[in-house]
Amino acid sequence: MPRAPFRRKSGTRETNQLVRLAEGLASSRSRAEDIFWERELEAAVSHYLEQNDDESINRALDRAHDSEDDTFDALADVVESLSESMVTQTDVASVRTTLFCAPILVWGRGQIPARQIPKQSLVNLAVQLGAHVFSSKASIALADHLFAPDQLPHSYVESREMLTSLAQAIRERTHLTVDASTLEEAPDVVCDMRMIIGAVQVTDGSPMFAWEEMTTSVEEARQSSLTAWRSQGGAAVQPLLVGCPFELTLPRTFFAACREADLGSRAYSIGASVSYLEAVTATPPSKLTAIIGGCWGNGLEEYRIGFSVGDDDEIVHGTIWPLVSDEAEDTPVVEEIETLLKAAGVGQIVVLEERLPLEFCDDCGAPHFPNRDGEMLHAHLPEDADTRGVQLH
Ligand SMILES: [Zn+2]
Repeated sequence: MPRAPFRRKSGTRETNQLVRLAEGLASSRSRAEDIFWERELEAAVSHYLEQNDDESINRALDRAHDSEDDTFDALADVVESLSESMVTQTDVASVRTTLFCAPILVWGRGQIPARQIPKQSLVNLAVQLGAHVFSSKASIALADHLFAPDQLPHSYVESREMLTSLAQAIRERTHLTVDASTLEEAPDVVCDMRMIIGAVQVTDGSPMFAWEEMTTSVEEARQSSLTAWRSQGGAAVQPLLVGCPFELTLPRTFFAACREADLGSRAYSIGASVSYLEAVTATPPSKLTAIIGGCWGNGLEEYRIGFSVGDDDEIVHGTIWPLVSDEAEDTPVVEEIETLLKAAGVGQIVVLEERLPLEFCDDCGAPHFPNRDGEMLHAHLPEDADTRGVQLH
């Protein structure tokens, strides 16, 4: 995506102002006072976004991390909401346009496509999203690319630029053409995510999502949207991911959807790893051993799960379970991983007690995974594995 021709240098004074306003909002104890701080903070953040000044915003977020209470959350909420949603005035009404993301959890024995979405597929996807996910009052436009996570906008300013381009597409009743040559290449991994990105527009204050219009409980309404999107939307996604099993998660506003997909992908990758090993090595899950080990950097950072066949010491495949925000040693993550491994039919599960290093391969950067002795090893599929194009080294 195009960058600003110049970046305005900004000093600490501006950063201080953002943090001060966020502190005000976080420490307010009434809606009446919130409204004041919110308005001030929104005006300040909008200013930086309009100046393409991600640097000042990021610096303020860093500083807010060290501040009292919920200052960071207050600032991050405002920054995210102004980057993904905007209100504009048309001749007849003020309209709200919001960036959304429809995540797809996916695995494959070969390279998972990150590709241009053909016109007919765009039309089908827009119809299904319109019917099951968005309200009857909403207009939407989609970007014509099936994004890998690394290809998504990298900054608040870029997110806002994408929102603006999609808003223009909605006005012109078309979809957004993405120049794929400007995007990073998608990594070749067994289990990943793909994203459909678009914008939804409603008259400001009108329902945006289908579940805002339903009369059942909100949770039930959301669930029925998801069920319909999975079946009808799934049929529209299928041609884009031929040969790759996938699962759709609930489309939501951009930042929330990306975060939820990150969380969902941890559980998904466990079942996907077992299915993958069954597909490429013809090993039934009951013959697999999974070894769970906590890896430590500055504290416990992630669990790595190594897979081996039977009692073998070699690791044939592995998957990572990163910890997020407030998860730590005392979060019952291991139990959750064990439950998922059992549900996938894995025969033997070993939980290592020792602290393992966050080790990577010097040659290719691939993470190492623990075997039953707690050794960190490079995963290698058996030589007779049927990978059909999966890249090995
Ligand atoms: Zn390597």
